[in-house]
Amino acid sequence: MSDKHEKSDADWQKDLSPEQYRVLRQHGTERAGTSPLNHEKREGVFACAGCGEVLFDSNTKYESGSGWPSFYASRDGAVATQLDISHGMRRDEALCAKCGGHLGHVFPDGPRPTGLRFCMNGAALKFTPKS
Ligand code: FE
Repeated sequence: MSDKHEKSDADWQKDLSPEQYRVLRQHGTERAGTSPLNHEKREGVFACAGCGEVLFDSNTKYESGSGWPSFYASRDGAVATQLDISHGMRRDEALCAKCGGHLGHVFPDGPRPTGLRFCMNGAALKFTPKS
């Protein structure tokens, strides 16, 4: 993770909405089915709501039925993972590689070609349609 983007907790709290702060900086999970990005089908890019780094392209988004925006691949190197053993599960936590913000988790039950499911909190993402 880059030092350039290290911000104080107070600054994050100031710059993010309460829900974005809870997800990105406190490892929160939004309620399933609540993100408007679940229904986002336009062409465009999904960036980290914390630092603006582009994480996903719309052509890797798919309907997983989970209630969270899902992708089968991230942009190269944009998403870091680490083992998360909270809540009695072993999961791969997905983090923005640039700012360290919590995005969601990665599961090995996604579609081809990767077989991965990046299960994301919509609150951690910002969509920009292709112009
Ligand atoms: Fe970020």
